[in-house]
Amino acid sequence: MSGNKKNKLFKSGIFGLVVADALGVPYEFTSRSFCEMNPMDDMIGFRTYNQEPGTWSDDSSLALATVDGLTYSLNSNKDKIGEEGSDLEILEIIDYEDIMEKFSSWFFDAEYTPHGNVFDYGGTTASGIYNFKDGCEAILSGGVSSSDNGNGSLMRILPIAYFIYFLSQKYSFSMDDQMKAIHNLSSLTHRHRRSQMACGIYVLIAIELLKNAYEDGNKLGLDELIENGIELAKEYYCNKKGFKKELPHFERILCGETKTLPKNYVRGRGYVVASLEASLWCLLNNDSYKETALAAVNLGEDTDTTAAIAGGLAGIYYGYDDIPEHWLEQIAKFDYIDELIDDFANSL
Ligand SMILES: [Mg+2]
Repeated sequence: MSGNKKNKLFKSGIFGLVVADALGVPYEFTSRSFCEMNPMDDMIGFRTYNQEPGTWSDDSSLALATVDGLTYSLNSNKDKIGEEGSDLEILEIIDYEDIMEKFSSWFFDAEYTPHGNVFDYGGTTASGIYNFKDGCEAILSGGVSSSDNGNGSLMRILPIAYFIYFLSQKYSFSMDDQMKAIHNLSSLTHRHRRSQMACGIYVLIAIELLKNAYEDGNKLGLDELIENGIELAKEYYCNKKGFKKELPHFERILCGETKTLPKNYVRGRGYVVASLEASLWCLLNNDSYKETALAAVNLGEDTDTTAAIAGGLAGIYYGYDDIPEHWLEQIAKFDYIDELIDDFANSL
């Protein structure tokens, strides 16, 4: 693996997501009480999907397809990405149609999979892909009903935090454009405002973590960084028509109540708000990558996705070297993932 600080930061978050996803796959759909009686304490295999240890699922597949799609967007817009300080429209350079083609190639042809088969997928994601295949514009393909608010876009949104953070080192974007880019990426499969907003909150937190990890100067604690991201999200969404009515759904998260919630109030469910809250709860109540990822799995239910969402942020905060080496060694197609991430980092 490259020792380059920037590439390593990309690997901390993306492998953080993939490893935690793989950790959760064998326990997906297990109950809280089962997890309490049989807590997961290491990478295992089999059980729910009968997969080898280190097998990652749709969460990682779609995040990696996004990594690949954003790399393509950057490489095919080199003429627009000019000198530092020049104007750049972030919304113009992301090729959402291409990203959606890549999602389709995962769904129909098992691209971006560990062993050439798709064993796990969400209904709203599948519907979005079918809509796209039927001719719908990519950013209009996602479901807009309140029942389309599963965690299917939140689990794959992390790569855009890198995209925005590293491009904004060279160019200035309006907050509106940054947020629209995140919302559009969610909308490929999940177009309801609530899903878009969950992605927005998560990415703003991720960008705070990236800044803290990458820039010299005083390092902040995880609680403070999460709080800073949430404050930015509050500032943005409280003044946005269309999002205001979604605010009550995020009240516990936005009011900073997540950390002190008793465990029985926290659910590792597929509902996007519950999933975001559960992931943040695991981050705020643990002190290492390993503890955070295991805590997410041991909440039960949508274990791989809660863990992937928490694991991406935990990877960025604690760093690549904090991800247990023997977990990384078991990850299927490690070199393939490593190369996709290097290509992405090198294009930014
Ligand atoms: Mg999954």
